[in-house]
Amino acid sequence: MKILFYDTKSYDRESFQNTLKKFPGIEIEYTKSDLDARTAALAAGFDAVCAFVSSDLGTQTVEILHQNGIRLILMRCAGFNNVDLDTVKKHGIRIMRVPGYSPEAVAEHAMALALAANRRLHKAYNKVRENDFSLSGLMGFNFYEKTAGIIGTGKIGAAMCRICRGFGMKVLAYDVYENPDLKEFVEYVTLEKLLADSDVISLHCPLMDSTYHIINIDTIRRMKDGVVLVNTSRGALVKTDDLIEGIRMHKFAGVGLDVYEEETNNVFEDRSDEILEHSTTARLLSFPNVMITSHQGFFTREALSAIAETTLQNALDYQNGKESTNDVI
Ligand code: NAD
Repeated sequence: MKILFYDTKSYDRESFQNTLKKFPGIEIEYTKSDLDARTAALAAGFDAVCAFVSSDLGTQTVEILHQNGIRLILMRCAGFNNVDLDTVKKHGIRIMRVPGYSPEAVAEHAMALALAANRRLHKAYNKVRENDFSLSGLMGFNFYEKTAGIIGTGKIGAAMCRICRGFGMKVLAYDVYENPDLKEFVEYVTLEKLLADSDVISLHCPLMDSTYHIINIDTIRRMKDGVVLVNTSRGALVKTDDLIEGIRMHKFAGVGLDVYEEETNNVFEDRSDEILEHSTTARLLSFPNVMITSHQGFFTREALSAIAETTLQNALDYQNGKESTNDVI
């Protein structure tokens, strides 16, 4: 079975090549091009394509893949909001994904952002490099015996609850479903109470109509003064203009963002030599208490190897005509 991998970086090739040894019937070819209507025809002669969150799997792309004999789309990620599922279904193409891989990878990054923003590690690093050994502007607060508020307690949120407990924090949570595994040490409360009582708030719910801009000026006003806010889930959970207003109101001790509303054109690209078209990210970074990373929460050896293992197992299940819970349709 031959698979064309789109939008691959060196680390994708490395983790898939390592895992491929366990799947002798599968052949992979890698391209740096992302998958869209212009590049879909490259898939001629392959049995399957492997795509990522940034791929454009709209109607035209799927039509071209179908015309070129593609019978399987392997998403090497959990999300599939970039896929025209109706066209995929119409052509009887099978589409499979990786629903969960190392939740701890993302949760540990969320805690890293919370700590770094609180203790101004991004500032401290640069200060010491400039031989500035003063401590001005670096004061934070202890997490020990403070309250963490976790919004969304699925796989990643649950891992974050466990990490916060490990720090000696009281853990509050808000979710539309209560996770029975957390009952022993997590107190489920209303969103209102979580916002009012938490010293550190971390977002771990998916982006849906009900969670779009869940952090806005109204919810920000309900938070404690001096709170640390972290978002490693999806950019549009936070209304950026309102976040900026909240920062200007001195609401936050720190803000850590791995995702933000205008990230799409930036994610995984080196744009250091460009004049960027929007200034919101730059505006956020102008505040001393904000730390931003570029959607790297998932980026650990363990997570990449789990993604490779599941993606290749999906390919094998397809080849053997086996049903799988990783099917999108
Ligand atoms: P999950 O499906 O296991 O958990 C999501 C939780 O959110 C569920 O418990 C669900 O009940 C809850 N939820 C749904 N609607 C809600 C609402 N209105 N209010 C509060 N909670 C609500 O998902 P997960 O694997 O834990 O992933 C969480 C998010 O992390 C994903 O949606 C994804 O956007 C993000 N993510 C980010 C990275 C990264 O690299 N930064 C990597 C993977 C996933």
